[in-house]
Amino acid sequence: MASGLTMDKIVSLARRRGFVFPSSEIYGGLGSSYDYGHYGVLLKENVKARWLEAMVQERDDIVALDSAIILHPRIWEASGHVGGFTDPLVDCRTCKKRFRADHLADEQCGRKPSKRPGETSECDLTEARQFNLMFETRVGPVEETGQRVFLRPETAQGIFVNFKNVAQLARRKPPFGIAQVGKSFRNEITPGNFIFRTLEFEQMEMEFFVPPDAADQWYRYWIDERVAWYVRYGLRQESLRVRPHEPDELSHYSSATSDIEYLYPIGWSELEGIANRGTFDLTAHAEASGTTLEWVDGGSGERYVPAVIEPAAGVNRAMLAFLCDAYDEEVVGDRERTVLRLHPEIAPVKVAVLPLIPRDAGIAERARALHQDLRRVMVAEHDDGGQIGRRYRRQDEIGTPWALTVDEQTLVDETVTIRDRDTLAQERISISRAREHLLDRLAAPWAPPARG
Ligand code: ATP
Repeated sequence: MASGLTMDKIVSLARRRGFVFPSSEIYGGLGSSYDYGHYGVLLKENVKARWLEAMVQERDDIVALDSAIILHPRIWEASGHVGGFTDPLVDCRTCKKRFRADHLADEQCGRKPSKRPGETSECDLTEARQFNLMFETRVGPVEETGQRVFLRPETAQGIFVNFKNVAQLARRKPPFGIAQVGKSFRNEITPGNFIFRTLEFEQMEMEFFVPPDAADQWYRYWIDERVAWYVRYGLRQESLRVRPHEPDELSHYSSATSDIEYLYPIGWSELEGIANRGTFDLTAHAEASGTTLEWVDGGSGERYVPAVIEPAAGVNRAMLAFLCDAYDEEVVGDRERTVLRLHPEIAPVKVAVLPLIPRDAGIAERARALHQDLRRVMVAEHDDGGQIGRRYRRQDEIGTPWALTVDEQTLVDETVTIRDRDTLAQERISISRAREHLLDRLAAPWAPPARG
């Protein structure tokens, strides 16, 4: 994260450039809910695509799954969510605000925001009560007789209950994994910090089934793999750390968990959790459903319940980390520019084609043709509105790594200028090579420039 970066700067850029909007705004907004605009969608899709590539496409031992959001309600009893997926809450009888009892040190008193809840003589906090985070709804046309169901608070359970299907059909034996990307829902009561904590969010979860005696080794392996993935896509190593959970923090299912934390403007906070869930989930679902969930080796007849290692990441939190790490302000010449130095494979738009003099028919025509050619293989924008400097700055703010400028010289020698977002270096390349040139640069390894 750049020094001096605040969440307000990210929120304002995200809004100004149409990445993220507060949800239901014309009705006054809904807390901890956001809508994603054009560039936000493209960025989010890139985060998910890179994750799926690393998990599924680049490996032989992980397959994909897309399970339902509304599952049989008994799944959430067996998983422990009905009984235990709770946050401890306290209410203040004076200011009528509600706080998480375990986060009081990070909250503001409703009357005196410089104080913590409970710190002033007027604060009157209730005892902590457990509050379940699952959203409930009903299936069926009649409210009273409908079956009570839950919106899933994590994607993982949809994977565990499909273990048998996938193990048989995909003909996999442990160690193997099942990866899923999809929406999850939690009735979070603490204020959101923009898209860091929201009521609905997308998760990228992978359950890796291993022989129990190899669980610790795979737990360590996945911590390293996941940190490496964030670095590969541009997060600076110094903004990442791994924090093992203290024994009293561990979830009911976990024998070891580590959080990959990112240094957000709000301080070090969880970006992704990696848990050794042991055999808890498969055992619990086998008992509750009456279906045996174990691995049986066809050859030796050996049978066992695999242990599970789970890297669980949030798409929106990853997106926020990529935005924070990429955000930069600098003075070039006598002008300030804001630039998102996103990894090219994460950036929403890869290239902008800019006709220098749009009213020149030759230039306009070549720019259109080049744009048509490029957009078949990558997200490319054509922009002929306003001064060239303003057009560059707009692309800088959405993180477009390259801009191709079509000018009078193009009409003479069929070349265009390619401008690099980070170095601002410009060189001329021939139009006929532009597509290949960009594809090569997209495929090349990329690291964020050192902070000035
Ligand atoms: P936290 O402690 O921040 O509430 P958690 O430990 O409950 O998170 P997990 O259950 O481990 O989170 O979920 C895995 C990942 O899903 C988290 O690391 C985070 O990236 C993402 N995530 C969880 N809750 C939210 C939320 N309310 N909004 C956005 N992302 C979330």
